[in-house]
Parts: sequence; structure tokens; C-alpha cells
Amino acid sequence: MGTKPVIPVAEGEEPWTADELAEVRDQLLEDVQAYEQKYLVAQAGLAELLTEGADAAGRDPADVGSSNFERDQEVSLAANARAMFEQSELALKLFDEGSYGICEACGGPIGKARLQAVPRATMCVGCKQRLERRS
Ligand SMILES: [Zn+2]
Repeated sequence: MGTKPVIPVAEGEEPWTADELAEVRDQLLEDVQAYEQKYLVAQAGLAELLTEGADAAGRDPADVGSSNFERDQEVSLAANARAMFEQSELALKLFDEGSYGICEACGGPIGKARLQAVPRATMCVGCKQRLERRS
């Protein structure tokens, strides 16, 4: 039994309790499974659209246009679900390695309140906002 890694909290927050940590880990596990499922569904939907597209020759151009739109939506849905899945999986790995809760950009604490709201967060609010402003 090694010593438990201490997951940092933001200034003014109470240290994590074992129960709170267990809850966050459960949520992460759920997220990994849920997003993987979403990703697989979106990917299957995309494969279906692509198959349909392949024998769409001779179809009304308006039809083709709408299926292109549908396909683009499906592509971004799949990409989004995949990104969420990978982020949740990464957070879970960090959790198990004991380096969870540390902002990957500034190395500061992400904060308990934020992690309880978004367990897959790998960046503190400040860095996340800076990143979003830049894009
Ligand atoms: Zn940060």
C-alpha cells in the first residue's frame, strides 16, 4: 500500500475526501463508456451514409446536397464524440497515475469544483478560456 497521491484543489477549497474521489472516478468511467458508445454509433452512422453515397449515382442533385450536409454533420459528431472519449480516457489514466487535477497548460490545480462539474477537464478554467479566446 503506497501513499495515496494527493490531488490538488484550488485555493480556498477543502481537500478531496475518499468518497468525492470515488465519485469523480465513477463519473470518468461512465463518461469513457458513454462517449465511446456515442462515437461508435456516430461512426456506424457515417459508414452507412458513405455506403449510401457510393450508390447515389443518378440521384437528384438536391438529394445529394442534403446527404452531403448530413454526412458533414455526422463527421463532426463522430469527431466530437471521439475527442470527448479520448479526453475522458486520458483523465482516467491521469487519475490512476496520480497526476489528476493538474492543469496541463500551467501546472496549477484545476480545482475540485471544476472537476466535479467536468471530471474530464485537463485544464484549469483560466487556461481553457485563454485557449478558447485564441481559436
Ligand atoms: Zn492552467
